[in-house]
Amino acid sequence: MATALTDKFSRIVKTMSGQARITDANVQDMMREVRMALLEADVALPVVRDFVNRVKDKAMGEEVLGSLKPGQALVGIVNRELAATMGEGVADINLAAQPPAVILMAGLQGAGKTTTTAKLAKHLIEKRKKKVLTVSGDVYRPAAIEQLKTVTKQAGAEWFPSTPDQKPLDIAAAALDYAKKHHFDVLLVDTAGRLAIDELLMNEIKGLHAALKPVETLFVVDAMQGQDAVNTAKAFREALPLTGIVLTKMDGDSRGGAALSVRQITGVPIKFAGVSEKIDGLERFDAERHAGRILG
Ligand code: GDP
Repeated sequence: MATALTDKFSRIVKTMSGQARITDANVQDMMREVRMALLEADVALPVVRDFVNRVKDKAMGEEVLGSLKPGQALVGIVNRELAATMGEGVADINLAAQPPAVILMAGLQGAGKTTTTAKLAKHLIEKRKKKVLTVSGDVYRPAAIEQLKTVTKQAGAEWFPSTPDQKPLDIAAAALDYAKKHHFDVLLVDTAGRLAIDELLMNEIKGLHAALKPVETLFVVDAMQGQDAVNTAKAFREALPLTGIVLTKMDGDSRGGAALSVRQITGVPIKFAGVSEKIDGLERFDAERHAGRILG
């Protein structure tokens, strides 16, 4: 994967050409470069350490086959390990539940939850031919409820009204009841976010999870958050049994290290990537392509 080589990687490849085996010494050199590339891509330090150790284990003693140069073989190992850490095949939304399948959206304020809720609604309508209802449990920000209404309309889904004087649990129960009565396939539940982790908020979303028993609990996280994404991911993973990640704002200029950190911290697949503000700006997460972005 020559396109994924950084200048540094190319240098290593060059100096190691001509050597027939991957040795302890050249693995050490290479790992220093890998470590640097990952840190530059804003991958969290503990995640970098863990990753480098795994690659080292894989690389040590591995014989270089045929015409492959040791440097290239090492880069290949790094690439494969990066892609394998970030994904395992294509992970779509799981709808295997008695309808309506409930999808709970979790994440900090500004992460892109509301936008992603509408993008997912559009995806499920167009690609999976589902009848989709959305509802907002964000009773703290009336503007958020209105925003969901607007983008749900753009997505061609139905929006269930809620108001700031209601309790999130009551809203959820009413929306679920409505979805059942009107034979919706999917209920997407947008939730309140805060600017930082907050115990009240976590308890609220835990309560919603217990009441709704969602088939998917998606953690929505801003790729531009870089290192901070790790702390957010940890807090949400501890509070909720997450089933997937949506990485938003991948169209920004981040090097994408958050993908590796968040995937490793939560242990759940990155299902989608947000690639624009528009309603159709949602793509399947491509781990191999993303590995190239982190190293490139
Ligand atoms: P919420 O507070 O988590 O519900 O976040 P919003 O859905 O309101 O999104 C916050 C901001 O990020 C809005 O201005 C969105 O248009 C923007 N946004 C969301 N997803 C993306 C994305 O994938 N790319 C870009 N460029 N902007 C996004």
